[in-house]
Amino acid sequence: MRSRVLVIGAGPVGLTTALLLARHGLRVTIVERRAAPDRGVRAVALDDESLRIWQACGLEQRLRTDWDGGPPGALMCRYLSPAGRMFLGLRQDEGAFGYPHAVAVHEGRIAATLDAAARRCPDIVSMTGCAVHGLSQDAEGVSVELRAGDGPRRVERADWMVACDGGDSTVRRLLGVDMPGMTLPAPWLVANIAEPEPVLHATIRCDPRRPSVMMSVPHGVRRVECMLASGEAERVRRDPDAARALLAEVWPEAARLPVLESAVLHFEARIAARWRTGRVFLAGDAAHRTPPFAGQGLAAGLRDAANLSFKIAGVAQGWLDAPVLDSYETERRPHQARLIRLALRLGRLMAPRSMPVAIAVQGAVRMAGALPFARRLLHMRGRAIQPRYADGFIGAGRAAGSYLPQPSVIAGDGTLRRLDDLLGSRMTLVAMGAGRDSGALGGLAVAPGDTVLVENRDFTDPGGVLQRAFGRRSVVLVRPDRVVHTHFESSRARVRGSRSLR
Ligand SMILES: Cc1cc2nc3c(=O)[nH]c(=O)nc-3n(C[C@H](O)[C@H](O)[C@H](O)COP(=O)(O)OP(=O)(O)OC[C@H]3O[C@@H](n4cnc5c(N)ncnc54)[C@H](O)[C@@H]3O)c2cc1C
Repeated sequence: MRSRVLVIGAGPVGLTTALLLARHGLRVTIVERRAAPDRGVRAVALDDESLRIWQACGLEQRLRTDWDGGPPGALMCRYLSPAGRMFLGLRQDEGAFGYPHAVAVHEGRIAATLDAAARRCPDIVSMTGCAVHGLSQDAEGVSVELRAGDGPRRVERADWMVACDGGDSTVRRLLGVDMPGMTLPAPWLVANIAEPEPVLHATIRCDPRRPSVMMSVPHGVRRVECMLASGEAERVRRDPDAARALLAEVWPEAARLPVLESAVLHFEARIAARWRTGRVFLAGDAAHRTPPFAGQGLAAGLRDAANLSFKIAGVAQGWLDAPVLDSYETERRPHQARLIRLALRLGRLMAPRSMPVAIAVQGAVRMAGALPFARRLLHMRGRAIQPRYADGFIGAGRAAGSYLPQPSVIAGDGTLRRLDDLLGSRMTLVAMGAGRDSGALGGLAVAPGDTVLVENRDFTDPGGVLQRAFGRRSVVLVRPDRVVHTHFESSRARVRGSRSLR
């Protein structure tokens, strides 16, 4: 009998988790309170890690029209002073993962594409219009009490449950798990407006009198956001004309174009006190809420999905030991806490307390932007954003805990492929500079079900990306979420058969 997982919440994190679990061969039931999608105003920016996770769901082509990155070198984001002068500009860059570093997205369309993919998948059952009301668990599994509207209660049982039921998670409440943190004091007005002429770059006006954000997203939408002063939230909620007048302060065209969706929101910075209770895991906004200033709330939830789904599959199918499940929180929590701190810092940059603070901070950022290290940090790329796991389901070696780059490679059949498309669904050993012999596999044991990829036998890497990253004769053991578990450099100390926690 194949293991069954209940995923609660068909937001983007729940759907991604369900798709990844199903690709590992598990049967998934996804429970969603809403009868029909209602996305409202949500994420507009994502990074290359997120796109790579959806590639692992088999959705690279289907999602291609829902994100836009612009050409390398293009100006993607302008931070403006109160006088309208740019003090920081972020340019597009092709990341090491095979996608642009930062892209504009239409979260509603993406969620619809994920939903359609889940409905097509024979291993996923979707129960919509059905909410969780109760929860219990024992040594063998989890039981949830579900109810559609005023209908009778029914009980569903599964081996594991992943709660992706958003910031107000019912499951988190039923488990009695706190979510300490803070609600930011100033509300923001956030609107999607129909736009005829998209612009490539986002504009962030860091003006203490009216901090604002404006950017185009795919499918003809302009996102306009502005911070509200005290007393304005009530007025804007009651009077659509007052809302439109404020939006037109940021973007004059807002006065005449249709407002598609809008909301007054209080942003939150919170992390759940624990992410696992027995057989139930929290993921996405149910586990952490991140102010949107770094564009990392959804991205973080997708990292959760990738990190957790292979561990549940591995334990359920017997190719990982049960303690590996605890490494989900060990790995994800510190990184998420760091990203929330980054988002709060960016929030202070975007909304300075006063004019003197704005002048001082923006001057310092302009000067720091001239230094390569500070520029990388300000541009929120690579290590500034990506996790690098030091603890958890990680073995030894210089690159252990970091991501595998994704170059385009020539596969054994002569076709040009993205490297991830050659990796297996369990662990993959990639041997660089090995030629046709497998001597470079060193002391690393290959477990049944692992995939082995030997350079110059199974693929060639014309750009030499992997040898540059790991060494000329080297081996990496890669987890299904593309994190390097063990890195073995044959010219250095021997690393024998180390698969911690396995
Ligand atoms: C204005 C704004 C801008 C943002 N910008 C960005 C950005 O640029 N980049 C970024 O990465 N992130 C951004 N975010 C954050 C991002 O939108 C969220 O992190 C993301 O949508 C969370 O997805 P989720 O699937 O975890 O939760 P949700 O999308 O909230 O989905 C939860 C689902 O669970 C369902 N549900 C709830 N309770 C139950 C129940 N009891 N039973 C069954 N189903 C239930 C809900 O109906 C819902 O469908 C932004 C957020 C906001 C508000």
